[in-house]
Amino acid sequence: MTRKHNNLEYKVLQIIKESGSQGILQSQLWKRIGATSREGSRVSLKLEKAGLIERIRELHDGKWTYKLIAKKRVVTLDSVMDIPCIFCLQQDRCDVGSNISPTTCKRLSEWLEKQS
Ligand code: SF4
Repeated sequence: MTRKHNNLEYKVLQIIKESGSQGILQSQLWKRIGATSREGSRVSLKLEKAGLIERIRELHDGKWTYKLIAKKRVVTLDSVMDIPCIFCLQQDRCDVGSNISPTTCKRLSEWLEKQS
């Protein structure tokens, strides 16, 4: 998986999570991130397959679409004990938007992939 794809999936998941229990319509989400519906559908199917979101079929303005809702996951201490950030030497300099960032961190992406 490329970094561009990882970033898009991360961004999509964050927006879906921010929409809370109401969720967000696929079409609104794609507009917001500037993705084509083909690109967007690929990402949402992937997130659904990973068990991170639910896709619920919904009629909107006379057209069938999907509402995307984040699944709540039970987090136990054991499940996060090996997250790479805990012993990372870059931790103090790691921040969203900076050169070292959780949105582009390969080690964190790989760890997240193992969780799904
Ligand atoms: S996201 Fe990556 S660079 Fe940042 S603290 Fe975690 S492991 Fe380190």
